[in-house]
Amino acid sequence: MARRRRPRLSSALALTALMSAATLATDVPEHHAEQGFRNPSSDSVHGGIASFFRVIRLRFFSDAWQTYDPERDQVPLAAPSLASGPSSNAAITWVGHATVLVQHQGINVLTDPMFSERASPVPIIGPRRVTSPAIAIEHLPPIHVVVISHNHYDHLDGASIKALGNGPIYFVPLGLQEWLRSRGIASNRVVEMDWWDGRDHTTGDRKLRITATPSQHFSGRGFADRNATLWASWSVAWDDFRIWFGGDTGYNDQQFKEIGKRLGTIDLAMIPIGAYEPRSFMRPVHVNPEEAVRIHEDLGATASMAIHWGTFSLSAEGVVTPMHALAEARREAGIGESDFAAFAVGETRRYATRPH
Ligand code: ZN
Ligand code: ZN
Repeated sequence: MARRRRPRLSSALALTALMSAATLATDVPEHHAEQGFRNPSSDSVHGGIASFFRVIRLRFFSDAWQTYDPERDQVPLAAPSLASGPSSNAAITWVGHATVLVQHQGINVLTDPMFSERASPVPIIGPRRVTSPAIAIEHLPPIHVVVISHNHYDHLDGASIKALGNGPIYFVPLGLQEWLRSRGIASNRVVEMDWWDGRDHTTGDRKLRITATPSQHFSGRGFADRNATLWASWSVAWDDFRIWFGGDTGYNDQQFKEIGKRLGTIDLAMIPIGAYEPRSFMRPVHVNPEEAVRIHEDLGATASMAIHWGTFSLSAEGVVTPMHALAEARREAGIGESDFAAFAVGETRRYATRPH
């Protein structure tokens, strides 16, 4: 008798313990904070009032901040050569900043569409473009899929989203659906995703697999919404070609290794290389070219391209400095130009797909 009762009691206890452990362990992912979101792998906090004032001092009262000089800072420009129909290669065009047009199998994917003159809540102040978008928004081919990395003004632009309208399906990190809805985007055109959520998306007879992946960054468009919505990087996979879009990120030695391991082959990674000085302020949230090369290696990407430079002057380094620093970082790492390419603004390059 006693032998029977004891197991029943202990299994009930064990079940209770298991259930509460499950509630604690599985319900709240590490990057979910009590309010909003946080970086699981970053121990340093970006900003703080002291470092904010250091940056203001540097920006306005020192010579260390390289403001844009059109004579000195000549960003290479090229004319796009878009895909004219399905082909065996994927056509990748850098529109500028983090905006990239990916064309493959007749499906057109656009990342972080930013076509406005300023990355700012108000039209007359804030960072202004130093290079125009390589394709005017009204001249884009039909866009089927848009991925958004986070809600900073240089990545999520109200006028650009309004112009794209309800044509594309928007894949966004958690918390951004309402913002798009308030800009006239129907809720059935927006898919909100947490890190590692994946979704199949069919356009015609072609299927894409879209997966939200981690990044180390932050979010906010005003004073009261810091980290209220999530930030993410994205994998967009055709059956024979996969891109990974880094958005905006700092470096850590966990997330990108995990992404490379879990996704498998990444044919082309889009990795930010700009807005990294002063390092004391920017390091947690923006990689420099050397760290960008480390991300390329951590991912095990077949090839990478540089984004997030040559378009807005957002930080202390010169507008074309990241391109030169990337060349240096490639030399140090012993990789070639095509392994981690700095496209000209507007340049289209074609990438081989995998046989299957
Ligand atoms: Zn950002
Ligand atoms: Zn940015």
